[in-house]
Amino acid sequence: MIRSVQAAQRLDSRGHPTVQVDLTTDRGTFRAIVPSGASTGANEAIELRDGDNSAYGGQGVQKAVSNIRLVIGPALVQSGLKVDTDQRMIDCLLKHLDGTKNKSKLGANAILGASMACARAGAAHAGIPLYEFLRRESGAKKPFVMPVPFFNVLNGGVHSGNKMAFQETMIAPVGASSFTEAVQMGCEVYQKLKKVIVEKYGTSATGIGDEGGFAPPISQPHEALDLLVQAVSLAGYSGRIKFAIDPASSEFFKDGNYDIGFKDDKPNLQSSKQLTDLYRSLLQNYPIVLLEDPFAETDWDSWTEFNKECPVELVGDDLLVTNTKYVQEANEKRACNSMLLKINQIGTISEAIEAANLAYSFDWSVFVSHRSGETTDDFIADLVVGLRTGHLKSGAPCRGERVAKYNRLMDIEADLLGKGEKCLYAGSQFRVASKC
Ligand code: PEP
Ligand code: MG
Repeated sequence: MIRSVQAAQRLDSRGHPTVQVDLTTDRGTFRAIVPSGASTGANEAIELRDGDNSAYGGQGVQKAVSNIRLVIGPALVQSGLKVDTDQRMIDCLLKHLDGTKNKSKLGANAILGASMACARAGAAHAGIPLYEFLRRESGAKKPFVMPVPFFNVLNGGVHSGNKMAFQETMIAPVGASSFTEAVQMGCEVYQKLKKVIVEKYGTSATGIGDEGGFAPPISQPHEALDLLVQAVSLAGYSGRIKFAIDPASSEFFKDGNYDIGFKDDKPNLQSSKQLTDLYRSLLQNYPIVLLEDPFAETDWDSWTEFNKECPVELVGDDLLVTNTKYVQEANEKRACNSMLLKINQIGTISEAIEAANLAYSFDWSVFVSHRSGETTDDFIADLVVGLRTGHLKSGAPCRGERVAKYNRLMDIEADLLGKGEKCLYAGSQFRVASKC
């Protein structure tokens, strides 16, 4: 039984306020802290901000906090719902308490914090780890599959101060034999990359962006990929590490064109066709296995055209916003073959699971993601194992809020092996891990 629900305004990794929830049952107190995006999709559930410029430049979340204290908390306590068995009903109650389509009344940040804390409490009450609780909630099969970590080692877009339009350039150690080895490979490449950047651009170029990746003075995607080729080779992992890109292109889509010079002094407008040609040439020249948001959330035709002949995982982030409505639409339009899963895009754990299961039903992949504004909460590490998504992105192997997830995943791998549980590493099968 839920005894009380407390909430407080705390900070995320960018120094903006965020929501922290402490949910108390007769077994203890269970905490959740909510992440926040910068390159957000237009159709995401609404993150409630105070808009009071006298505090935190209007970014405060005191309204969301009081919605938990005054509305959500009392309703959860009075409901008598059980955390170990009733997560879906709890999330349904939260959704109905809000009553809007996009959770704009109570705030998706308030609702998600409560939903996450309930799941944590639920796992403790059931006497099982959170990943197993989430596996049962989702109906995923065993054995457990450890994900390939996609490390965002070069930051651009709205996450960094350099001129690089593309937001994320990632390395994926698909050739590792375990998650723990994949982390080692990623870290070694990250350190070599630092050396390559120092040699090429000097020590002042090793500053990092919001997700812990470097942000050297480059502007073109091939410059980023060339740096990675060099770093991977220096680390001795050529062939065992693949690449991925998230241009986050909704951020630079203006009047039907893509301005890949949007952070530069002069515009560099590209039509969808030109951008398509750029992607095709990058896919031919580099070992890229995944492309996320190559086109804007409103540019459906370009998605569909590109997906007709797409040799890699094509992930919808802003396009789908972890929402079954858009996943359904994208399947009808044959717009992509994978869903990015961000829990705060939809606002409850049950709805995020529902969206993942719908994506699986279309034979798509599911790619779990952190947000650029993160916290030390490692919930998504358990989620990726519970849902058997086979891969996740949680930024570079650098900065506490990023490594919290990778560290938790190494704990989970050690826990499973220690218990003698069968546990696979997704490796090159990361796209179809749910079917292993
Ligand atoms: C992304 O676009 O995939 C991302 C993680 O960035 P943000 O959290 O800023 O949306
Ligand atoms: Mg994205």
